[in-house]
Amino acid sequence: MKNDCIFCAIAEGEIPSFKVYEDDLVLAYLDINPCSEGHTLVIPKAHYAGLLDAPDAALGEILSRVKKVAAHIKEALPCDGFNILQNNGPAAGQSVFHLHFHIVPRREGGEPLSFKSGKGDMAALEALAARLRF
Ligand code: 5GP
Ligand code: ZN
Repeated sequence: MKNDCIFCAIAEGEIPSFKVYEDDLVLAYLDINPCSEGHTLVIPKAHYAGLLDAPDAALGEILSRVKKVAAHIKEALPCDGFNILQNNGPAAGQSVFHLHFHIVPRREGGEPLSFKSGKGDMAALEALAARLRF
C-alpha cells in the first residue's frame, strides 16, 4: 500500500469501498461504521494529511464537491439536514490521516449526534451505495 494510507488505497481501488460519487478530484463513499444512515466520506484523491496540509485552491474545489454530494444525499435518501464534520489530529478524533469530510445525514426527532459509531452491515451498505451512487 502506497505510503501506508488506507484512504489512498481506497482512492486507487486497491481496497474496495461503497462508492457514492467520483470525479477527477474526489471520491465519496459510505463510512464503514456510520453515525447515521447515509454517513458518507468525501476525500480528495491527492493525499493531504489534514485541512492545514491542503492548498487553498484545492480546498475550494474539494468543498464544492462536498456540497454537491451533500445536496444529492439530502434529496436521494432523504434527510432533514446534515452535519459536515472534519477532524484534524488525534486529539480531535482524527483516526485516518488523509483529509476527509464527513457528511452525516440527520432526521427530525432522530438520535442526537454521537461520535459513538454504529455497527456496519456490509449488505446494507452495499445496497445503499448502489442506491446513492451518481
Ligand atoms: P476520522 O475519525 O479520522 O475523522 O474518521 C475516519 C472515518 O473513516 C471513521 O468514521 C471510520 O469509520 C472510517 N473508516 C476507517 N476505515 C475505513 C475503511 O476502510 N472504509 C471506510 N469506508 N471507512 C473507513
Ligand atoms: Zn492518503
